[in-house]
Amino acid sequence: MKILLANPRGFCAGVNMAIECLDETIRMFGPQIYVYHEIVHNKYVVERFTQQGVKFVNTIAEVPEGSILLYSAHGVSPEIRQQSKGRKLTTIDATCPLVTKVHLEAIKYAREHYHIVLIGHAGHDEVIGTMGEAPASITLIETAEEVANLSFGLESKIAYLTQTTLSVNEAAMVIDALKLKFPHIESPPKEDICYATTNRQDAVKQLVELADVVIILGSQNSSNSRRLREIGEVLGKPAYLIDGASELRPEWFDGVQTVLISAGASAPEETVRDCIDLLVSQYGAILEEIVTRLEHVSFSLPKELRLLQAASDWSLRIIVWHSFWTTSSVRSSSTSFIGHQSRQKLIGLH
Ligand code: SF4
Repeated sequence: MKILLANPRGFCAGVNMAIECLDETIRMFGPQIYVYHEIVHNKYVVERFTQQGVKFVNTIAEVPEGSILLYSAHGVSPEIRQQSKGRKLTTIDATCPLVTKVHLEAIKYAREHYHIVLIGHAGHDEVIGTMGEAPASITLIETAEEVANLSFGLESKIAYLTQTTLSVNEAAMVIDALKLKFPHIESPPKEDICYATTNRQDAVKQLVELADVVIILGSQNSSNSRRLREIGEVLGKPAYLIDGASELRPEWFDGVQTVLISAGASAPEETVRDCIDLLVSQYGAILEEIVTRLEHVSFSLPKELRLLQAASDWSLRIIVWHSFWTTSSVRSSSTSFIGHQSRQKLIGLH
C-alpha cells in the first residue's frame, strides 16, 4: 500500500493563532478561562483544552461576571461583544483576521446602503457572526438554486460576500448564478474564501485521481474538512472524514493500493501521524508526501495579548489589563500609570 500525503494540509494561520492565543492566555492567567464556542472546530483540540480546565460556552450568560473570555477563530457578532461588556468580561479576540475581513466588508457595504447576499452555511458560527454585523442588510443563501428566490430590482445596490471555508467550486456556481441574474452585483475587493481553504481543496483535487480511497482528518462540524471529503466523493472515490486513527475501518482498505490522506484546517498534525503509523504498521504502507503549494502565512496574536506578554510582572500586567479595557486609548491610559522603561515596551508594540 502507498500513502499519498497531501501538502498543504492541517492547521492554517488562523487556527495556529487562535490556539496559541488560548495557550498563552492559560500560561498567563491559568486555566480558569472561558471560550465562546469551540476555539476551533476540532474534537481533539477542544478536548485538550477542556482537560486543562478551560470551559467552552454557547451563551454569554454561562460566563461568570468578571471572567476572562476568548472569542473563537470563527468570530462573533456585535451583540455578543455587547453582552460581554454587560457582564464585565475581559475579552480576548482570537477571530481569524480573514474572518474579520469579511465582517468589515459587511459593515462597509451596509453603511453604503447595499443589500448583501451572503453565501454560506446556515447555523455555522462564522455565518452567525458575520450576519450579526448588519442583520437587516444581509440575506443568506447556500446554493445556486436559491438565487432564483432573490428579487432585487435592477436599480438596487447589491453585493455578495462568502463564508471563508466554502467549496471553491460550489461557491463559484452560486456566484455565477448571482452574476447572471444581477449583472450589476458588486464583488468583494478580494476573494473571501481563504487561502487555506483554497490550497487544501486544490491539493486534494490534484491528487485524488491517483488514489483508491481518501481519508480526511477533521471533525464533522469543521466546514473546510467536510468540503475536502466531498471533493473525494464528487470525484468518484470512497472518502471518509474522521477525527483520528481509531475510526479507521479495515474494510475501507480491502484491495486498496493507494490512500490519499489530508486534513482540514483545524485538524492537528498528530492525528495525521497516528493514521500514517497505523497504516504503516498494519499494511506495510509506504509514505509519499506531495507538495502542491508552499504556504508562508502567519498571524500575530491579538493586540491585547501582546500587550500582556510585554508586561514583565504581575502587578504591571494587572495595570495594563485594567487600562486596556477601561479606556479607549491604550497608549495614553497605560503610560499614565507605569514607569518609563515599561512604557517604552508598550509603545514599541504599536
Ligand atoms: S480556515 Fe481560513 S478563515 Fe478559517 S481560520 Fe483558517 S485561515 Fe482563517
